[in-house]
Amino acid sequence: MDKMDAMGLSGVTELIPEEKILERVAQLGHEITSDYKGKDLILIGVLKGCFLFMADLCRNISLPLSCDFLGVSSYGNRTSTSGVIRITSDLTRPIEGKDVLVVEDIVDTGLTMNYLLENLSTRKPKSIKVCTLLHKPARQMVSTPIDYLGFSIDDVFVIGYGLDFQNRYRNLRFIGIKTQDDR
Ligand code: 5GP
Repeated sequence: MDKMDAMGLSGVTELIPEEKILERVAQLGHEITSDYKGKDLILIGVLKGCFLFMADLCRNISLPLSCDFLGVSSYGNRTSTSGVIRITSDLTRPIEGKDVLVVEDIVDTGLTMNYLLENLSTRKPKSIKVCTLLHKPARQMVSTPIDYLGFSIDDVFVIGYGLDFQNRYRNLRFIGIKTQDDR
């Protein structure tokens, strides 16, 4: 029985191992630390997928910063967005005058991020940038500025390290490809 079967993960293939994720997240944290020295940084995590990335990223940024979260959902089928985005839980504090860094798990078509950037811009932050762990350039429908990127990946459906399939697999330490439908 291989490692995946033993964990009840048949139908999942490892794409990015834990060590590689943590190494890249540390690099992003150091880059952000030097770019945001002396600024009033607020990380805005996009729930739910961001929660592990956000936790590891913020611990690699050696600056005074604050964290807030936005919940979004998009109407669509099981594995892709329709582009109709809804904020299901909003920020707890105003962001006017702050240097905002939006922290996302994955930019796929770009529709969610574009909606969020438009929405957040109306709240008059001093600056607004995007940090995403993953990007699927092949699926991009609208151009989205990505200032900090973990990994570019092919057009595959990924799970783990915060990303789900039907609300499962978020707790995996690695990022895997869902190769088999287990409905
Ligand atoms: P976009 O609006 O860029 O098409 O999609 C953004 C959202 O779709 C992501 O925040 C994520 O929730 C979901 N998504 C897109 N691709 C994947 C994927 O490969 N795996 C998972 N689990 N979610 C994805």
